[in-house]
Amino acid sequence: MEVAREIPGVRNAVRIARSRGRRIGLVPTMGYLHAGHLSLIEAARRDATFVVVSIYVNPTQFGPQEDYARYPRDEAGDLQKCAAAGVDLVFLPSDEEMYAPDAATSVHVSGLTDTLCGPCRPGHFDGVATVVAKLFNIVQPDVAYFGRKDAQQLAVIQRMTRDLNLPVQIVGCPTVREPDGLAMSSRNAMLSADQRRRALVLYQALCQAQRSIQAGQRQVQAVLEEMYHIVSQAQPTRVDYISIVDPQTMQPVEHIDRPVLVALAVRIGNTRLIDNLLVDPMGSAPPSR
Ligand code: AMP
Repeated sequence: MEVAREIPGVRNAVRIARSRGRRIGLVPTMGYLHAGHLSLIEAARRDATFVVVSIYVNPTQFGPQEDYARYPRDEAGDLQKCAAAGVDLVFLPSDEEMYAPDAATSVHVSGLTDTLCGPCRPGHFDGVATVVAKLFNIVQPDVAYFGRKDAQQLAVIQRMTRDLNLPVQIVGCPTVREPDGLAMSSRNAMLSADQRRRALVLYQALCQAQRSIQAGQRQVQAVLEEMYHIVSQAQPTRVDYISIVDPQTMQPVEHIDRPVLVALAVRIGNTRLIDNLLVDPMGSAPPSR
């Protein structure tokens, strides 16, 4: 496995791979890799023949009051996991490598970012879209993999890629969960044992929403109230949002008459957790946990 910290090294490795007829797959991450990231790498290994993982905690997608400084990092562990997963190239840039001191350009995707995490994290999606556009230009992958756990992020990247005619195929991958249902996240490492137990309310609320909708509930407000009730039992520090939106536009739906994205962002202690479930009202309800 090759490791590149500078852009010319990445470009060179990718150029050689492409000259050998390889299909280049990119998995962008912020590191502290877990089974969710590894599922993206596995997906890349299935349909690309040269797998690049980028590991970069991108400062421009964190607000001034957010957890950039305490975001977990483990470079040595991440490199071991990438090697074991059969990654061909890891790109580990420094901030200096990614951003010129007078960088003045950013990518803004409007509309899709007006709801959910957008208003709670001003500038977040500009930071994400910009760094992903830069990674696409640096690596020039044929295909890139993103988790549905960050459903709004995936929608933003799909829209950006289409709108800017970036020649990259975007693949969305299913959310990987802990055995009890908690969505895997690098931020889970910041939870105490008690907070980890309370964090389960996100998934429990989503499952309750799915059960209600698939049992015939069509009123958005009724579903949201049930979810608030479940989430409040964990005494969250803050509920950023609990919403039911159209999975394409990310705009709130008025009536549940088609597949909807049920999504929430909740702070447990100082840790902000997000999760979502795509719910088809015509589907059959899952077993309760
Ligand atoms: P992050 O390192 O949190 O920025 O995530 C990097 C990529 O992994 C993003 O595309 C995420 O959506 C994806 N990802 C994170 N957690 C999960 C998960 N539990 N299941 C599937 N994909 C995930």
